[in-house]
Amino acid sequence: MSLECIFCKIVAGEIPSDKVFEDDELYVFKDIHPQAPVHLLIIPKKHISSLADVAEEDYGLLGRMLGKAHFFASEMGLKNGFRTIINTGEVGRQDVFHLHIHLLGGDTPLPPMIYRTKQITD
Ligand code: AMP
Ligand code: ZN
Repeated sequence: MSLECIFCKIVAGEIPSDKVFEDDELYVFKDIHPQAPVHLLIIPKKHISSLADVAEEDYGLLGRMLGKAHFFASEMGLKNGFRTIINTGEVGRQDVFHLHIHLLGGDTPLPPMIYRTKQITD
């Protein structure tokens, strides 16, 4: 656990969250500022700062996180599709440095993944 990490504090119950699932390795909760009708965050209980900081021994955990995304996409009725996002580091615009998968979906299509201010031709 990282003492300064907001998601570690959520896992520890020190900050309230809208929890939808927990087991010994994973914690799933609703994003506080939802960007879609369904917006869940899937995190490992173990503090890993980002996808750039994952060790090979964590690959199984990554698989379990993605498996939970699959499970909750079905559980939440996202039968026409959904989006999973992992923002990483400064370039990826990561705000909370505790690894998380965003699971986003609803009845209507989400906006384009990346807004382009000009056409990329090359
Ligand atoms: P990212 O930009 O990928 O690091 O995403 C961080 C996400 O965490 C954002 O979508 C925030 O809305 C969400 N978030 C921040 N604090 C909380 C909180 N206390 N409970 C639930 N979600 C949070
Ligand atoms: Zn943490």
